[in-house]
Amino acid sequence: MRIDAWLAQARERLAAVSDSARLDAELLLAGALQKDRTWLYTWADRELSSAELALAEPLLQRRAAGEPVAYILGWRDFWSLRLQTEPSTLIPRPDTETLIEWALELPLPANSHVLDLGTGTGAIALALASEQPSWQVSGVDQSAAAVALAQRNALANGLPEVSFQASDWFSTVQGQFDLIVSNPPYIDAADPHLQQGDVRFEPASALVAGQQGLQDLATIIEQAPVYLRAGGWLLLEHGWQQADAVCTLLQARGFVQVANRRDMGSQPRISGGCWPQQAIA
Ligand code: GLN
Repeated sequence: MRIDAWLAQARERLAAVSDSARLDAELLLAGALQKDRTWLYTWADRELSSAELALAEPLLQRRAAGEPVAYILGWRDFWSLRLQTEPSTLIPRPDTETLIEWALELPLPANSHVLDLGTGTGAIALALASEQPSWQVSGVDQSAAAVALAQRNALANGLPEVSFQASDWFSTVQGQFDLIVSNPPYIDAADPHLQQGDVRFEPASALVAGQQGLQDLATIIEQAPVYLRAGGWLLLEHGWQQADAVCTLLQARGFVQVANRRDMGSQPRISGGCWPQQAIA
């Protein structure tokens, strides 16, 4: 079978489980052949050997059974980085790049100290460190497997200076930060979205929070001021229906310049505020 024909049949087989079936098919075949997607286009009329078909077919079957491409391949691109992924952590999503863009626009000191809470693969911490080499970036996660994965991703992306440690939110955190960022769990346990698509394979600990999904967001907003310098910022990812609740919590806690930004799908996704000069945590 030719590469273009393989991709066409794979796309059809994946159409029922994925809204990015063609892209998934390309990623899986390129992964099986250890090439990039451009190579598939260059060699679209090349015949696949039976050995190559035998490598690609099991990957396609796993995807057809619903498993996320990022877990099948073991990596996902985020920002400018290629991050290893495993089922112990959330798969990085493009929505979170809105948080990166906002963080990079903030009026922060050149030598800012930055903390990523619930870092997972290390996506946010590593993307920020890659853009701002003079920032001191660290990440924490309650999962030891996530901490180990984030450390591997730091080394694989040439960012060994980014440090990661185990912590249940702020439980082992010390020091003061110019920027605290987090993509915490924020989905309500009863949300039917949890029974659909890729999230079925991701750890509930990275997805689900109490109080209609607001519990961890509220905990972080409550505790962050103790760890923020005056003029420091807190940026949080949340569900598309949670922007008002999160902004209200930020204002009630004493944050100023509270604002929200939309993700690539135009949904309110990131909210944040500045810890003011005069406030007392
Ligand atoms: N945005 C993800 C989703 O809706 C959830 C990420 C999270 O809970 N932090 O699938």
